Amino acid sequence: MRQKRAKAYRKLMSLYCMSFGFRQPYQVLVDSEMCKASISQKLEFAKQVETVLQGTVKLMITQCCIHELYLQGKAQQPAVDLAKAFERRKCNHREAIPGDDCLASVVGETNKHRYVIATQSHDLRVKLRTIPAVPLIHINRSVMILEPPSEATVEAKESAEEQLLHPSAPEIAAMSSTNAPAEAPKKKKGLKGPNPLSVKKKKPKPEYPMPKNDTKEGEQGKAGTKRKRDADEERDAGEHQPLQRSGRKRKRHRKTSDKAVDSEVDEGV
Ligand SMILES: [Zn+2]
Repeated sequence: MRQKRAKAYRKLMSLYCMSFGFRQPYQVLVDSEMCKASISQKLEFAKQVETVLQGTVKLMITQCCIHELYLQGKAQQPAVDLAKAFERRKCNHREAIPGDDCLASVVGETNKHRYVIATQSHDLRVKLRTIPAVPLIHINRSVMILEPPSEATVEAKESAEEQLLHPSAPEIAAMSSTNAPAEAPKKKKGLKGPNPLSVKKKKPKPEYPMPKNDTKEGEQGKAGTKRKRDADEERDAGEHQPLQRSGRKRKRHRKTSDKAVDSEVDEGV
């Protein structure tokens, strides 16, 4: 078996195990046509099944399925011999019914016994794909194939996961009453932790205008304080040294008066 397929099968079987409770040895129900195909293709049946399922297996056949083989006479004796080596699964059909119907009834609505079904019946496989978690094996040109998970299987798996992710209302209530206080400080920690680092790094780089504003604000703030301080000093100076202040004012006055004089002169000329 190719590496890629082996990996896919391993993954698939782990899905059946993790999500649907399948356990080794996997119980494999084999139908009569599968027994015949195995003989005609000269497969080492048990070994092939173990390779495909990537684990130990318990091969089984229902009373109805082995009955089908008996009915086919001496020609199918090797298939009968193969089937006789399997564990007999009691299906409690008093009179043998067709193998497909028998296997469908044994699997039931939910495959609660977690059977793997090895069948050459296309119709049966189609039918069993509608039931979640029924691993299906068939032989195609001497190659044993494990079908990818059916839609029903995938949906069942996802809804099961969904339920795990979204706990029921009473569970949420229980959690909120016990865990809410523990969660709140965690959030605070999370905010405290990354923020000082990320803020320092991020601010100068991507948000270019932001630091500008910050510095402007800072400068303005500084300027404001400076002005304030100057004003205070001036006020102080005004209180204690009235001469300096009046000196400045006088200078200004002089300038303006000079201008006024100049303009007056211009006007005069
Ligand atoms: Zn039966």
